[in-house]
Amino acid sequence: MRENQNSVMMQRDLDVIWHPCTQMKDHETLPLIPIKSGKGIYLYDFEGKSYIDAISSWWVNLFGHANPHINVRIKTQLDTLEHVLLAGFTHEPAVTLAHALVDITPDALKKVFYVDNGSSAVEAALKMSYHYHRNLGREKSLFLSLTNSYHGETIGALSVGDVSLYKETYAPLLIANKQVPVPVDQSMKAAEEAIVHLESMLRSKGEKIAALIVEPLVQGAGGMHMYHPYYLKEARRLTRQYDVHLIADEIMTGFGRTGEMFACDHADISPDFMTLSKGLTGGYLSLSVVMTTDKVYEAFYCDYNDYKAFLHSHSYTGNPLACTAALATLEIFKENDVIEKNRQKSAYIAKKLKRFMSLENVKEVRQQGMIAAVELKGYTPQERIGLAVYQYGLANGVLLRPLGHIIYFMPPYVITEEEIDTMMDVAYDGIASLLKH
Ligand SMILES: *Cc1c(COP(=O)(O)O)cnc(C)c1O
Repeated sequence: MRENQNSVMMQRDLDVIWHPCTQMKDHETLPLIPIKSGKGIYLYDFEGKSYIDAISSWWVNLFGHANPHINVRIKTQLDTLEHVLLAGFTHEPAVTLAHALVDITPDALKKVFYVDNGSSAVEAALKMSYHYHRNLGREKSLFLSLTNSYHGETIGALSVGDVSLYKETYAPLLIANKQVPVPVDQSMKAAEEAIVHLESMLRSKGEKIAALIVEPLVQGAGGMHMYHPYYLKEARRLTRQYDVHLIADEIMTGFGRTGEMFACDHADISPDFMTLSKGLTGGYLSLSVVMTTDKVYEAFYCDYNDYKAFLHSHSYTGNPLACTAALATLEIFKENDVIEKNRQKSAYIAKKLKRFMSLENVKEVRQQGMIAAVELKGYTPQERIGLAVYQYGLANGVLLRPLGHIIYFMPPYVITEEEIDTMMDVAYDGIASLLKH
């Protein structure tokens, strides 16, 4: 008998690989899915079974796997220049991309600092904000963030986050920070209530706070929690008033995910810092940026011996292949009127989402652009209900990866209405099947 190629690959993997965000013992019973190839919204395992990538491979993929345009651009760049350091040197993809990002992001963002992954971009933004105030002779060593937020896994990024599952264990290691409540839902009233807390925090502690960091409009890892753009508008006004930076962490929300190019665009605000990664390269390569204002940049600009420079770097900063993938991604946005086409797809998703409300175990559905979530009710965390839906999805050819009891859809933008049907119907059936037990 022929050996199952998935099992062979799985065993070779488990001999040596420690997987991210995983209790490895789970794989005694839960098979790992070895992926051989991808095309468009589909992933294929070693036995040829296909899966719709309903979560864009952890929120990074925008225009499908093996996208023909991005592939060609990377291949050409590969034969030209694969990498060069970015200190003392520069290269065309980094320059062109930085100009493109300055053009499409909110007005005040004029400078691009290259980093190489999301968490590191958050670290760099926090350091830059603290350092800016220090360069002006002010000691502001606290950061402010929202409850239920997620900003990455490194010590600094974890410190400003608030997902206890990831954070609690490391509590003694974390840096000082304060939190204010995120609006409880998408209503205007919830935003107004949360702003009262923000204002009182800034009034009492503003002098010590370097920056407020937020995931604008949608908190991703915190269960696709969504809030009203009014909160951002007011947060911008208040942070300015109290001389506190506003860091918009658009690592997940950037590049069209929320329906506009950036979530900040919904509130028409320009933050002091914006962090971008994930969709930046269309889901191809690890790259991130911290964007900031001329005002921040100028506070570091002086003679070398004044020691105000931002001496922060990563080896793969501004990698040319990754910058080229990002440029190719932006070209697709431009040539295909993506934001407009996504409006139609989001409207279609909204229609399909309503149906979930008829299920007894559904507490709420919510949506912001190309992100839709179904929150279940009546289960304890120990029941691992998300895992059951995950397994149902896999058995039926859809990669859903729920966050606890929250099932969500964040597909590549190239998904068709027919494929949306399959993706959401499988999830619906999976959630409905829980009721039978
Ligand atoms: C994913 C994410 C990060 C961390 O990015 P990594 O590249 O995974 O380190 C930070 N902030 C937000 C909002 C994210 O969604």
